[in-house]
Amino acid sequence: MDVVMTIAGSDSGGGAGIQADLKTFQELKVFGTSVITALTAQNTLGVDGIFPTTPEFVTQQLSSVFNDFDVKALKTGMLFSADIIERVAGEIQNKEVQVVVDPVMIAKGGASLLQQEAVEALKTKLLPIATVLTPNIPEAEVITGMTIKTQSDIQAAAECILEKGLQCVVMKGGHLENDEFATDTVFLANGSSFKMQSKRIHTKHTHGTGCTFSAAITAFLGRGFSLQEAIVEGKKFVQLAIEHPLNLGHGHGPTNHFA
Ligand code: PLP
Repeated sequence: MDVVMTIAGSDSGGGAGIQADLKTFQELKVFGTSVITALTAQNTLGVDGIFPTTPEFVTQQLSSVFNDFDVKALKTGMLFSADIIERVAGEIQNKEVQVVVDPVMIAKGGASLLQQEAVEALKTKLLPIATVLTPNIPEAEVITGMTIKTQSDIQAAAECILEKGLQCVVMKGGHLENDEFATDTVFLANGSSFKMQSKRIHTKHTHGTGCTFSAAITAFLGRGFSLQEAIVEGKKFVQLAIEHPLNLGHGHGPTNHFA
């Protein structure tokens, strides 16, 4: 069985973070290991508290897993601080592992899941060793310092991100103003690009969609799919999860990993 890893924060409400990642891994038939960067006290209504793991203990978790398992692909989600990012980058930079970076910054309810001063570490330490980055538009704006409104803005931002040395960036278009479609554009370092267009689903039950998408890409990479195939199949998985809401909790309900 192929082994993958998530390096992310715990969501006590079970819809995002480590919990979403492990559920996705299970559904997509890979063996999931986990390195927890922070605990959050959270439900579908929002984040009530954050208790970060010490950077030393993040390193210890990484060592325990890497010393015993052949991890084929990993994803990073909530990394919280520059210290944790530096530890993670230091541990994975010489490993033969595909790296999916979901640059988690702000939860839907507004809680900050990445300290502001950690953005620089994300850009300089993690992006150069990433295989693929999956930013939504607000995250891409923070990473590039650009304002993104049009398709040509998206292209310019993607080119700016690819300059950091990664193989691919998936620009998630869900935050752009288009009522009919949510279009993600995939840019590869060889200069090619393609679009993944899906009908916009009008639902408030989208908690954990970003986590689920990047975890699904990681699962398919772990199973040996090509990068492009993994992204296309990952998109199909998250689309189904959004199309069939579970209606749990009283806020932004979780994506449905059973769909
Ligand atoms: N909480 C944790 C621990 C996460 O990793 C994430 C991921 O983005 C979120 C919350 C965000 O959840 P939401 O999809 O509601 O913005």
